[in-house]
Amino acid sequence: MFIKFWGVRGSVPTPLTPRQLEGKVAAVIQRIKPDDILSEEARGLFMAELPASLLNSIGGNSTCVEIRLSDGTRIVLDGGTGLREMGIDMMKKKEIGLHLHIFFTHFHWDHIQGLPFFDPAYLPENSITYYSPMAKMETYLRDQMKAPYFPVTMDDMNAKKTFTTLHGSTLDLGRGKISWRAMKHPGGCFAYKIEDRGKSLVFSSDTELRDKDFEKNPENRRFFEGVDYLIMDSQYTLDEAIEKYEWGHSSYSLAVDFAAAWGVKNLGLFHHEPKYGDNKIYSILNSANWYANHLESRPLKIFLVTEGLELEL
Ligand SMILES: [Zn+2]
Ligand SMILES: [Zn+2]
Repeated sequence: MFIKFWGVRGSVPTPLTPRQLEGKVAAVIQRIKPDDILSEEARGLFMAELPASLLNSIGGNSTCVEIRLSDGTRIVLDGGTGLREMGIDMMKKKEIGLHLHIFFTHFHWDHIQGLPFFDPAYLPENSITYYSPMAKMETYLRDQMKAPYFPVTMDDMNAKKTFTTLHGSTLDLGRGKISWRAMKHPGGCFAYKIEDRGKSLVFSSDTELRDKDFEKNPENRRFFEGVDYLIMDSQYTLDEAIEKYEWGHSSYSLAVDFAAAWGVKNLGLFHHEPKYGDNKIYSILNSANWYANHLESRPLKIFLVTEGLELEL
């Protein structure tokens, strides 16, 4: 399966500010020595050695993940502002006449705000099935596109629409299998597991981990044990997680504990805090790696989920 992250920020879209960009440029200039600009090769080497926090940005769009199964089935997890970027890309590539399957974890703004700006939803050649275990999904989605909040309604979206309330705990989709599980978050939130050709991904955005998520019961084992990739809400530092108890998010250290407890192979830190700049978020990755190295568990690969990141499972 192919995975692409179009939006990775939590709570609210977070564009890089002009001041932050200026800070990056100034920091790069400070590092340049005369030898670094003597040749194209030297310039390339200089660029390659820059820290990721200077050369890149975590990205500013809110939650949206694209998944393509091995049989070509197109899945989207959440419709945050990243969905708009995905739609622009699809239109540019003339990807028309598609059937998309959009699953929602929950309906907080940062997970639905891209939908009104998703160009493929306006094309009659496309069809979209929207999924959620929450029975009021259709009302929630339609309500954000009502006056005075938005000038066009969901009826103006000409792609064929189907709203499917998820019952039970699994759904076969193409060659893949989708499972879901309720996690702790104000108003409720669902984690999704996607399995395809023996590979597995768990997407658990907006999650405040509880003791019961660590319990080795059959339900937890089926969902979390040994997954290849766990994309996990790790919005907070440890101090913040204590201060913001019941706010519905987890600390990076708890995410590491959780991934280690379930023998996860790769942990992606996700739903980044909007008040943190790139430096702070990269320092969280360092702290998470430091912490993981001090746990007596199987090797765990930890990475930051950044906008535009692609994975092939
Ligand atoms: Zn969120
Ligand atoms: Zn939320």
